[in-house]
Amino acid sequence: MKRVIAIAMQKGGVGKTTTAVNLAASLAATKRRVLLIDMDPQGNTTMGSGIDKSQLTRSTCEVLLGECDLAAALLPVELPTAHGGFTLLPANQDLTAAEVRLLTLPIGRETKLRNALVPKRNEFDVILIDCPPALNMLTVNALVAADSVLIPMQCEYYALEGLSALLNTVEQIRDAANPQLSIEGVLRTMFDPRNNLANEVSAQLITHFGDKVFRTVIPRNIRLAEAPSFGRPALFHDKESRGALAYLALAGEMIRREEETLDTVRVAPAVAAAAPAAAPAATPPGATPATVPAAAPAADSASAEAETEAASKHAAPGAAQHPVAAAPAATGTDGGAAYAGTRTDPNDP
Ligand code: ATP
Ligand code: MG
Repeated sequence: MKRVIAIAMQKGGVGKTTTAVNLAASLAATKRRVLLIDMDPQGNTTMGSGIDKSQLTRSTCEVLLGECDLAAALLPVELPTAHGGFTLLPANQDLTAAEVRLLTLPIGRETKLRNALVPKRNEFDVILIDCPPALNMLTVNALVAADSVLIPMQCEYYALEGLSALLNTVEQIRDAANPQLSIEGVLRTMFDPRNNLANEVSAQLITHFGDKVFRTVIPRNIRLAEAPSFGRPALFHDKESRGALAYLALAGEMIRREEETLDTVRVAPAVAAAAPAAAPAATPPGATPATVPAAAPAADSASAEAETEAASKHAAPGAAQHPVAAAPAATGTDGGAAYAGTRTDPNDP
């Protein structure tokens, strides 16, 4: 998994930052080297990672303006895990000034982040960028630097409208500066299966986006909301909470998707080479070979276990063995069903 993923949606309060911080922690818990970039002047990702945004000497602002190297602005976020946590490029309100300054530049203003990342890109398995709630120059920089965009969405009435504006922007960025930019996935956040409208919007998302909709659904969960006030991801606030487990499941789903893509690429030439003599024994392209592990191969047994367990709790029924391999279309309104089987958290609303 070597990817730069922008977490973007111009609608405010949909769970971008919550996703950024908790996905960073979950991927770090599976031994991935993670860089988390705060690209929002609100500095919520910074605070949610336990770093005081009012005390920053260097931040995303200086990096974008070329006033310091990326390496000089990075901060370690220590987590109580054997793997040591993740790395943060922090931000605060100075980033607003940086955006204004970028806008005055005659050329190159969209590529500042992409260029700044070049020297460090290979040092991380995944780079997550938390975008501000606007389609502004900061978000454009994130989308130009990214390989893919992860779109958190609350399943409510205006959600699809916001989504089409974002997809238009993604299209424009592809045309102008980053033809490889892909959609990592649409993530249903703060989901309440008792809400009929949420189930309807969820079904519409699956109709329109098919397997681009993550099978993992993030439930509305009080632990996710209160963890930032302790300056830590939910995984290290209450690791048993449905919110923490959902983000672990999301990390597991992303890792498995990646492995399946790689396996499809690897298996296809093997099938071609073996045909026609051994054709019946080979795995057909697109199918999941029996050897694909359910959990990440690089993960240690504890985190792999957590991943598998969490993934099975949050995947649609019938997909427990290999949630991503099952056809998403078959899940229908899986928004509600996706975590119907999770344990009841007495602290949850
Ligand atoms: P902004 O657009 O302002 O950057 P955002 O899209 O980053 O917002 P968050 O800050 O992640 O959204 O979430 C908005 C609020 O909802 C926060 O108070 C957060 O703690 C809360 N929240 C996010 N996800 C959940 C969830 N799954 N369950 C309960 N509360 C949540
Ligand atoms: Mg935010």
